Amino acid sequence: MKKISDYNFEGKRALIRVDFNVPLNKDTLEVTDTTRIKAAVPTIKRVLNGGGSVVLMSHLGRPKNIPEPRFSLKNIVESVEEELGQKIQFATDSIGDRAFEQSSNLKPGEVLLLENLRFHQREKKGAEDFAELLAKHGDVYINDAFGTAHRAHASTTVVADFFPNDKMFGYLIEKEIESVDKVLNSDQKPLVAIVGGAKVSSKITIINKLLDKVDTLIIGGGMAYTFAKAQGGSVGNSLIEDDYLDTARSIMAEAERKNVKLLIPRDTLAADEFSDDANTQVCKTNNIPDGWLGLDIADEAISEFKAEIVGAKLILWNGPMGVFEMNNFQNGTKEIALAVAEATQNGAFSLVGGGDSVAAVNKFKLSENVSHVSTGGGAMLEYLEGVKLPGIAAILKD
Ligand code: AMP
Repeated sequence: MKKISDYNFEGKRALIRVDFNVPLNKDTLEVTDTTRIKAAVPTIKRVLNGGGSVVLMSHLGRPKNIPEPRFSLKNIVESVEEELGQKIQFATDSIGDRAFEQSSNLKPGEVLLLENLRFHQREKKGAEDFAELLAKHGDVYINDAFGTAHRAHASTTVVADFFPNDKMFGYLIEKEIESVDKVLNSDQKPLVAIVGGAKVSSKITIINKLLDKVDTLIIGGGMAYTFAKAQGGSVGNSLIEDDYLDTARSIMAEAERKNVKLLIPRDTLAADEFSDDANTQVCKTNNIPDGWLGLDIADEAISEFKAEIVGAKLILWNGPMGVFEMNNFQNGTKEIALAVAEATQNGAFSLVGGGDSVAAVNKFKLSENVSHVSTGGGAMLEYLEGVKLPGIAAILKD
């Protein structure tokens, strides 16, 4: 497989699938958060500094398969120019005659941004004829949009077939893949996984996968109450999935069989309503009074979880420990984030990915203190679950 760091881009046009699906101000249509644009810069610069030119393609928002000005990538041109530190060209249609003229006239060092791919229905359908047209824009294809790697769209997957010998990952995807590999496939120990968030149902596949790999599995967030109830506890009005009580029981049995230490919060910060202004009390997770609901983990659970985390060599964190969006119920998630940061400082490798734990480390300004924060969302969760992502498979296949 070709690697972006080794490839000779001299005189080549690189067609790069980036993730420029950035938030825009509803009224002014200005970019409100440039994180994704910034993140793409190293890959773009690598091509330009290597003597090549760049054609950028992305989707933005959810247009209804036709051009809609509020979803035009023209809105982000200035931000891209600012981040790259140079002027760029814009093509008003990703596959129009003018766009092909523009891409074929690119000189080394120049950048062209194509209009929103999803203005064409054929993008999401993964249409081969659309992918073939896109492929005409480049001599080499780079996929650096991890967030859409789980979709078999024309620009993320099908287009790669038109570059059998000249396709590769950009730095962002490379780092995402390396991070998961490092956590799930290295023999350093102990490996501690922290899984939180709202529901058991959305995390069951990843939990099953993790039971084969981890030494310790920490369960927090809303899903912990289904486990506590499955053990016979009273959990008041906490979030419960009654259909998953058996699943929770079989996860606990499986953990025991596989010698995985499974930790469920011993205590809980309970509230009398789902509100930041609610009255609160700390109670045992298996003894929450009727009418009260668990919205965060409490001190005993925090200490027990922290002790495991700071002793870990590898850490995977997916999903918050409580309703961290509300300030009164953020403490558990914050303390866990601090423990992950501390372990990282002591030499552990930590990956935060998939689900709201990414938003949590950002809220607590700790994203620089962990080894890798995934940009992948749903793609990261699927990748961790062991799903073969089409966008990744397309680059790896011969
Ligand atoms: P997920 O996307 O599955 O990682 O779930 C994240 C969501 O779970 C966040 O919005 C949290 O507010 C929510 N959550 C975490 N703990 C609880 C809880 N104890 N009760 C209800 N929702 C929770």
